[in-house]
Amino acid sequence: MGLALALQLASQRLRVGLVAHDQPRPGDVRAYALNPASRDQLAALRVWPQGDAATPVHAMEVHGDDGGELRFDAAGTGRDALAWIVDVPALEHQLAQAVSYQSLIDRIPAADAEQAKALAASAPLTVICEGRDSFSRERLGVAVERHAYGQHAIAARLSCEKPHGHVARQWFDGGEILALLPLAGNSVALVWSVADAHHAELMALNTESFVERLHAACRGALGTLTLTSERAAWPLTLGQARHWVGPRWALAGDAAHTLHPLAGQGLNVGLADVAELARVLQARQGQDYWRELGDVKLLRRYERARKADVAAMTGLTDGLQRLFVQAPRGWQVLRNAGMNVFEHSGPLKQWVARQAMGL
Ligand SMILES: Cc1cc2nc3c(=O)[nH]c(=O)nc-3n(C[C@H](O)[C@H](O)[C@H](O)COP(=O)(O)OP(=O)(O)OC[C@H]3O[C@@H](n4cnc5c(N)ncnc54)[C@H](O)[C@@H]3O)c2cc1C
Repeated sequence: MGLALALQLASQRLRVGLVAHDQPRPGDVRAYALNPASRDQLAALRVWPQGDAATPVHAMEVHGDDGGELRFDAAGTGRDALAWIVDVPALEHQLAQAVSYQSLIDRIPAADAEQAKALAASAPLTVICEGRDSFSRERLGVAVERHAYGQHAIAARLSCEKPHGHVARQWFDGGEILALLPLAGNSVALVWSVADAHHAELMALNTESFVERLHAACRGALGTLTLTSERAAWPLTLGQARHWVGPRWALAGDAAHTLHPLAGQGLNVGLADVAELARVLQARQGQDYWRELGDVKLLRRYERARKADVAAMTGLTDGLQRLFVQAPRGWQVLRNAGMNVFEHSGPLKQWVARQAMGL
């Protein structure tokens, strides 16, 4: 996300010093669901992955744990897809390439601590995009409100026997959530959010037994599944930094907020931070032309706008997670009935879909 911000600011003719690790991250098995707003933003920066690296989602099906069913369709939204499932290494490659061609971006290796420090001391504004365990945020003494979900998300790639039909599928089972996201051809990306103890058990299984469990959890929806990658897992937390800006600094992306991946929104929200910060900095050229880039009054406009938006998305993802984690039978009946009511709620359903699409 930091690379997208660097490109966005450079496109506004700002000079950017980008402190980043030299080594590319080892192969990420994840594929992100990116919404139309993110797609437009990345396409404008000319970094939208082409061909098989971005697969359109034409519909989304959500299955509850007691007969609840929801379906969202791209038809009628005015867009050709609800989202795109994007190969993470392909996106990172596109971003790195674009950065290397942009003459207004100076790359500084993170290993060169002296140069990085000198840059931070002289730059009018430092934007910290270091992810959820940000060291610079900690050094600034910014408190983070954190809630551990007691879950890990397991990600992997699979091929499936039956065509996925460009449908993203999700199954809620108690507090655990399984998602199979369509990729090119007959492939899918798995994101399976499970309790910590269950995660340890699933990761320890051999391939055959793991796939058997998966097949049962998705009720055989896509026929025989074959694992085509390693499995990788991430601990899940809800988190928000108390302050996102200060004199000459701002936080963006996971350094400012982390969400449960059940709605596939983390990077979408981070890219919306990029868009808003760039907009606020650009707008100062009007009546606020005399303000420095790192002027805290200016940066607070960014913080206010984004905190409100992130609060809405956090409420949605956290609320859903908490609703499904309730074990008693009464809750189970209620939430599945609620899903079916929501399915026929017309304008409310459309509003939620538009929020998730970033429209
Ligand atoms: C299993 C899973 C599935 C997900 N699926 C989706 C999805 O479908 N859609 C979606 O929108 N989001 C999804 N997300 C969320 C998404 O991964 C994050 O929101 C997004 O990666 C945040 O980007 P970021 O750049 O803020 O942080 P990160 O991706 O964590 O990147 C931070 C970068 O900063 C670097 N860094 C750290 N410290 C320093 C330093 N001191 N100097 C220089 N560099 C440093 C790190 O090496 C890293 O490259 C998912 C997350 C998980 C765990």
